Amino acid sequence: MESISIDMLHFDVMDGIFVNNITYGIPILEQVRKCTDMVLDVHLMITDPSRYVKRFAEAGADIISFHIESEKDIKGTIDMIRSAGAKPAIAVKPLTPIETVYPYLEDVYMILVMTVEPGFGGQSFIPETMSKVEAVRRMISEKDLDIRVQVDGGINAETAKTAASAGADVLVSGSYLFKAESMEEAAGKLRKA
Ligand code: ZN
Repeated sequence: MESISIDMLHFDVMDGIFVNNITYGIPILEQVRKCTDMVLDVHLMITDPSRYVKRFAEAGADIISFHIESEKDIKGTIDMIRSAGAKPAIAVKPLTPIETVYPYLEDVYMILVMTVEPGFGGQSFIPETMSKVEAVRRMISEKDLDIRVQVDGGINAETAKTAASAGADVLVSGSYLFKAESMEEAAGKLRKA
């Protein structure tokens, strides 16, 4: 990924409670940090993220996204991520209204719009989520803010075009890149989108 200039490594943390799957956590992130200078973009799909954000930042996360559905104190968690030295981002599941993130737009580095139900890789992109990308991008432009809009789930050469034209500028891709014969060529197609 480094050799083909992938912009960041997206690290999906699942706790088996917020989502029905378990992946990995802080010790693995520490080991990954030792191996690379890539931007580490940590996506927390866990309950009570505020309890752990400081430790993920210390383990080497550059960006930390947490789910708006998983935390009561949104502003407090954003502040905690910043004071731990990472860039805060809020994630929303496909069925969560995008308006829920509007009160926090001034405070975050990025908004993550899930384009599949979080929990498993290899799922199909949900096209209905694009109206959320469009709406949040419009709101960001109206407020003249400098915020990235990330999409995560089912991103391939085709859906990347759809997402980019809706206003997404950070594309997370797993299966499409890792199953490609040439990751470089596949990544090039995402960039072109
Ligand atoms: Zn993710």
